[in-house]
Amino acid sequence: SFDELKKSTNSFSETNEIGSGGYGKVYRGMLSSGQLVAIKRAQEGSKQGAHEFRNEIELLSRVHHKNLVGLVGFCFEKGEQMLVYEFMHNGTLRQSLSGKSGIKPDWKRRLRIALGSARGLAYLHELADPPIIHRDVKSSNILLDENLNAKVADFGLSKLVSDCEKGHVSTQVKGTMGYLDPEYYLTQQLSDKSDVYSFGVVMLELLTARQPIKKSNYIVREVKTAINMKDEEYYGLKEIMDPIIQNTTHLIAFRRFIELAMRCVEESAADRPTMSNVVKEIETMLHNTG
Ligand code: ADP
Repeated sequence: SFDELKKSTNSFSETNEIGSGGYGKVYRGMLSSGQLVAIKRAQEGSKQGAHEFRNEIELLSRVHHKNLVGLVGFCFEKGEQMLVYEFMHNGTLRQSLSGKSGIKPDWKRRLRIALGSARGLAYLHELADPPIIHRDVKSSNILLDENLNAKVADFGLSKLVSDCEKGHVSTQVKGTMGYLDPEYYLTQQLSDKSDVYSFGVVMLELLTARQPIKKSNYIVREVKTAINMKDEEYYGLKEIMDPIIQNTTHLIAFRRFIELAMRCVEESAADRPTMSNVVKEIETMLHNTG
């Protein structure tokens, strides 16, 4: 309730600031029920922030899925804009892969993280009504709960796709360099396949633990080079793979995973799988991983 929210916001202090994003700071708080929450507070006077906040509220109140970060409440008044989310104890996937929070996930855990986030996105694309394109899929927008389950966050840029648009929307290009679908970038035609591209980049990140740098498609080209130059067993991958997960017993699994990632990052959107195809394939991989 609003009262609860007010109470929890009274406990703001520098000490429980947990992060800061493009549009303000994020704090940890507790509701009177005892539930831990993350409170995102917009910087005063940020017009774009206000737009994205409203967008996030509208979208998040339509969707419910265990792999999408839940909105607990919000406050949207003149002078004060706050979004309250379920608290995700293990921070972002990016922090986790960089070793900045907790232990780095092992291979099986990475497959589960990929599966969870893929399910969240498949839900947005295929089950939400109307469908939703996230538009900013990246490892810093995938949050991990206390059991390292993945939830997709940050719907500030997301777009509803109403039926009349037939899955294609012409928009001003938005997103994050390094994750951005090159076809969308060139044509400004947005579709759910743009999220698939970005998700493919996240898969490459799960393998390499490297962060895609802002130079467009750098990580994609780097991986392509590594697997093209060497033999068909992809031993070239070793040079760019996260040493923590390198293990010869997983070689076949790595190959399947990277082949799927490479289809996700195909230049042409039509050649990319749908998110629900991705879900099915990762389910099979997980099933085959002892
Ligand atoms: P950005 O605007 O850069 O995408 P956010 O404002 O969404 O970043 O989040 C900033 C930081 O706050 C994140 O990197 C993360 O560490 C933390 N954070 C965001 N949401 C949550 C949450 N629900 N639970 C725990 N931590 C969170």
